[in-house]
Amino acid sequence: MPKILHIRGNCIGCNICYEIWPIRWRLSTVDGKCTLVDGKEKKGVWQAQISTDELDINRKAADACPVKIIRVVE
Ligand code: SF4
Repeated sequence: MPKILHIRGNCIGCNICYEIWPIRWRLSTVDGKCTLVDGKEKKGVWQAQISTDELDINRKAADACPVKIIRVVE
């Protein structure tokens, strides 16, 4: 199953990922960084399994992220 990897600690809170796919990304009001919805943290990297239907839209978010901290893995 494909998954998204997010190095949340390096997020600059630009909110572009949320604007592209708000179902999967949320800007935290606590620390101003984006949170990967349904993500689980492991050694600073947040991961969430996604369906193949979500691949393209999250690739778009990964490409648009200015600090390149989103990866989509098949
Ligand atoms: S696009 Fe990247 S830097 Fe911007 S909020 Fe999303 S994860 Fe953070």
